[in-house]
Amino acid sequence: MPSDVRLDAVQGRIVLAWHTDEDGLFLRFAAEETDVRLVCRCGRSHWIVRECLPPATATLVVTCHGCGTRGTFPLDVVRTPRS
Ligand SMILES: [Zn+2]
Repeated sequence: MPSDVRLDAVQGRIVLAWHTDEDGLFLRFAAEETDVRLVCRCGRSHWIVRECLPPATATLVVTCHGCGTRGTFPLDVVRTPRS
């Protein structure tokens, strides 16, 4: 199982890949070998996810479904779909 990380602890780290499933939002950070599940300060792990892609700076913007907390992460690569 992926470990849970708090948004506050990882805000601003570079994201290499991400995906969502029924358990929440999973991120792969640069220099990490495993995905982690992003957890909000309210304890939820479901996020509204939006990608801002080039020509703008590639950024992943997440908004908590529960409390509306927002976080942003630099995106290193374009997302590759995963099953
Ligand atoms: Zn929240």
